[in-house]
Amino acid sequence: MNPAIFDEMIATRRRLHRHPEEGWTEFETTWLVAQRLKALGYERVLTGTDVVKPEAVMGRDPKLVDAAIERAVAQGVPREFIEAIEGYTGCVAILETGRPGPVVALRFDMDALRIEEADGPEHAPAREGFRSEYPGLMHACGHDAHTAVGLAVARWVIENRDTLCGTVKLCFQPAEEGVRGAWPMVQRGLFDDVDYVLASHCGGKAGPGEIALVHKGVLASTKFDIRFTGTPSHAGNQPHRGRSALMAACATAMMLTGIPRHGEGISRVAVGRLEAGEGRNITPVHAYMQIEVRGETSEVNEFMCENVERIVKANALAYDVQSSIERVGDATTLPRCPDMIEALREVAQGIEGLAILDLEAPAGSEDFTWMAKRVVERGGQCAFFRWGCRHNGHHKFHFDLQDTESMPTAYKMFTGYVAKMNGTH
Ligand SMILES: [Zn+2]
Repeated sequence: MNPAIFDEMIATRRRLHRHPEEGWTEFETTWLVAQRLKALGYERVLTGTDVVKPEAVMGRDPKLVDAAIERAVAQGVPREFIEAIEGYTGCVAILETGRPGPVVALRFDMDALRIEEADGPEHAPAREGFRSEYPGLMHACGHDAHTAVGLAVARWVIENRDTLCGTVKLCFQPAEEGVRGAWPMVQRGLFDDVDYVLASHCGGKAGPGEIALVHKGVLASTKFDIRFTGTPSHAGNQPHRGRSALMAACATAMMLTGIPRHGEGISRVAVGRLEAGEGRNITPVHAYMQIEVRGETSEVNEFMCENVERIVKANALAYDVQSSIERVGDATTLPRCPDMIEALREVAQGIEGLAILDLEAPAGSEDFTWMAKRVVERGGQCAFFRWGCRHNGHHKFHFDLQDTESMPTAYKMFTGYVAKMNGTH
């Protein structure tokens, strides 16, 4: 790989790593991406509400967004830019070569997680001076690297535009965590004309020197926020007058894990967070839960969702409290396109020293699946691959990916695929 692009890619990843931004708050990141794409010479760089349809957005907390805007402005992001994007993150660059050929879209996600990053000398970002500067936030899933790879690929595409045909779309997605950002991009119509859509993720079951082609196992998933509202009372004098939101939430947590297994595919349910109550001697008025379900097929996932909704309603009735349930994230399964997987295999075979794995076992979820589904529904194809590293566990405080060793593989896969599909040869 071109050493200048390599150096820039690693520097970009480390810069993004120092300023992690969680889903729907990627203002510094979107600004950096948009500026870089314009500087490269992309004439069509779309941002904000030209990229995501606000009406289709889920799981966006205005308080978090407002705080992040102030932080981004303090870091030098112009307020006019925030106004131009109407407070919505995300960026897409489109290169139309003017020569007939396929429309190829590449997806790169940008968001970070609520995790306090490790601070010991055994953790490379701490040791080498690019640990997160934002307390409680960390790129613990490698999306900083995904974004930096995307910008490196964007540079390669521009530098090689005279050898390309068709159209290349570089899609920088907000809010992949919690599977929130892809759906409103699809609803904006960005994938309606796409023939091939490709995305990747670092790590997972792929180790150093390995690449994994994903055949199946990406689970459909839905994320819910649940609230119960009870009636307060003095716990000593008038316990009979109170209605406990806490007890309704606890019963719900226990019952959710008892949803029957489904005969037609694996399922998952997780209660990740439960906060309830006001004080020791007050019947608890408020309870809040964050939960998620998953399914091997969208039917199995929907079965899980229906059970969640029924259990919440039934417990509200049983404990005589009010309930509300909100879908804050959604992803489907990955359509399987064998021809595109084989095309990717050929690209991987051309990369020296790379071992190729084929994945079929159940793994995590990805909202890239909405982009994939839209493209496949309209006669196109999709694929998803993993590029390996020693990651120490995704979403953990000591997650790392050995950027200088692992990221070139991702870069070579994406540029190799574009050369294969859009090359004029
Ligand atoms: Zn991730």
